[in-house]
Parts: sequence; structure tokens; C-alpha cells
Amino acid sequence: MRIVILGAPGSGKGTQAKLLSEDLNIPHISTGELLRAAVSAGTELGIQVKEVMSSGQLVSDDIMLGLIEERLGRDDARDGFLLDGYPRNLVQAEALDELLSRMGIPVEEAIDIAVDNEQIIERISKRAELEDRSDDTEEVVRRRLQIYAEQTAPVSAHYSKHGVLTQVLGVGSIDAVYSRISAALKQADAPAS
Ligand code: AMP
Repeated sequence: MRIVILGAPGSGKGTQAKLLSEDLNIPHISTGELLRAAVSAGTELGIQVKEVMSSGQLVSDDIMLGLIEERLGRDDARDGFLLDGYPRNLVQAEALDELLSRMGIPVEEAIDIAVDNEQIIERISKRAELEDRSDDTEEVVRRRLQIYAEQTAPVSAHYSKHGVLTQVLGVGSIDAVYSRISAALKQADAPAS
């Protein structure tokens, strides 16, 4: 299955994406993780994106398209994938549609995890203590949430227009949210009666 998972920073989408990819046996492709790995390894890409990421801004659409094109072209993505963190704006959503239609493998499901901003700030402060991410300070989190509202939220409407969007409430335990997502996917997969 080819799935895009959407949700604000701190919505729990990374955690849910990991669980889903294990259950469905498809690669979890997180652009944030790919970029953080490049920064840690000190590659040319890592050096290019380090400051932009630390400030909470988005990396350029061109760089991201190159990265995602290379990753989706690998063998393990042929039978399905779960995209987490891409697309992040409408330009990326359209670029992804074009890329996947060229490859003959369109997105089948987009899952949007909804959580309100106050809960997100609380969750991210906890994550900051655990993971030591340079973009998890309160000021940067607020900027990331603002960018999310302005640029990423419209991506849900894009998938809704394509008839593949399911919205899931992201409050409650990890298991509770996961059950909602699984139920939504089963329903989306069932033949229409
Ligand atoms: P994430 O782990 O998905 O929250 O991503 C962490 C950071 O990586 C973001 O705040 C951006 O700076 C960068 N990033 C990840 N995915 C993208 C994307 N699709 N477009 C632009 N920047 C991205």
C-alpha cells in the first residue's frame, strides 16, 4: 500500500508511521530522519540543510524532490511505502503526484492526524528532553507550527480533492490512535458496496 501520513510536528505521526510500516511491511520514509542522518554524517546535503532545519524553516522544494525521488526509486519502495514528512506544501504535493504518476504508483491513502496546538507544544517539550533535537525549542516549535498551518495544512485539502484523505483524531494513547488509523485503512481498502 502507498500511504502518506500528515500531521503537525508533535502530532505523533512519526510514532504511528513506524508502527504502521512494521505491520504493513512497507518502508517508513521519513524525510526529517533522512535529513537528520545527512546532518549527522556531515554529507554535502547535511551541510546544506543544517541551519535551515535548526531554525525550523523548510528545506527547499528542489532539494526535497531530489531526495524523495532517489529514495522512492529504490527497490524496497516498489511494493509500497509510507511517507512521513513529505509533501510539506502544495508545490511538493504536486511534484509528488507528477513523480508517482510517472512511476505508475499513485498515493492510495493519505492519513491526517489531528491534534490541537496546546497538546503539541506539551508533547514536543517532552520530546526535547528525551531526544535533544535542535529544532525542539519552544520558539522554533512555534515557528514550525506556524509554517505547518500556513503551508502544510493545505496539503490535506489536496488529498481530499483526490478522494484519498482520512482524518483521524490524534488524542489518547498510542494504541488508541493506532486502532483508529488501522480501522480507517481497512475501511478505505474495502470494496465500495
Ligand atoms: P520532521 O522530522 O518531519 O519534523 O522534519 C524536521 C525538519 O526537516 C523540518 O522542520 C524541515 O526543516 C525539514 N524537512 C523535513 N521534511 C521536509 C520537507 N518535506 N520539506 C521541507 N523541509 C523538510
